Amino acid sequence: MKVVSYGAIVEKVRDACMEANFKLADDVRAAVEKARGTEESPVGREILDQMLENAAIAEREQIAICQDTGFAVFFVELGDRVSIEGGLLVDAINEGVRQGYRDGYLRKSICHPLTRKNTGDNTPAIVHLELVPGDALKILLAPKGAGSENMSRVAMLKPSDGLEGIKTLVIDRVREAGANPCPPVIVGVGIGGTMEKAALIAKKAMLRPIGSLNPDPELAPLEAELLGKINDLGIGPQGLGGRTTALAVHIEVFPCHIASLPVAVNINCHASRHKEILF
Ligand code: SF4
Repeated sequence: MKVVSYGAIVEKVRDACMEANFKLADDVRAAVEKARGTEESPVGREILDQMLENAAIAEREQIAICQDTGFAVFFVELGDRVSIEGGLLVDAINEGVRQGYRDGYLRKSICHPLTRKNTGDNTPAIVHLELVPGDALKILLAPKGAGSENMSRVAMLKPSDGLEGIKTLVIDRVREAGANPCPPVIVGVGIGGTMEKAALIAKKAMLRPIGSLNPDPELAPLEAELLGKINDLGIGPQGLGGRTTALAVHIEVFPCHIASLPVAVNINCHASRHKEILF
């Protein structure tokens, strides 16, 4: 049995909140640099240059890549041979968020949905907890800004809509989102499950490292096809035209009811932030 202390989780989550917001993840930076090399529009190239410069300044000065430092979303895999000592796991995560957003001078963006009163410390975090075999505790943090999250959708398609219906939904969603999610975007697509499961796997898919091939041989070409069609839309970096509307399309599937076809599209912006913690 592995023992992980409450205090160690607080400290690592605190540091991860700051690092994720200060440093553009390597896979995202590499994808923006690659797009800079292929973008045909001069304005598009200029904007990609500005995004890279902005990321370099943020890392050097230890300030946020974007003013919207996001909702702190966590995907946690808790091994069945891990014991948390000194407190509850979710409490430790929330305390880490509290400290990280305070110490990193990150904007506190979380409020009551009706009164709009700010909670003041960017908590509560959203924690998706999965129990897995083993003695490891994996915590993936993905701060998510509202600009891109607001452009995401869940649709309950008819089974007869099929693959063509799914493709149309994804492409129309990105077209309608336009400049709002600060393109180039990363598009997570969740197909199947129930309404909430589709949304969850769409977000999880979005966080797969950019440039990694989908292990499902049927999904990999579909991802490539959708990415090509999205980039043909001409929205371009920050919506000012160009070939680079999306850096990646990632798809995850789950079995669904014979009478339904849930599909979720979760869009992330060029400031796609993520940081993994492993105990
Ligand atoms: S969509 Fe992303 S880059 Fe744009 S404002 Fe929101 S967090 Fe910042």
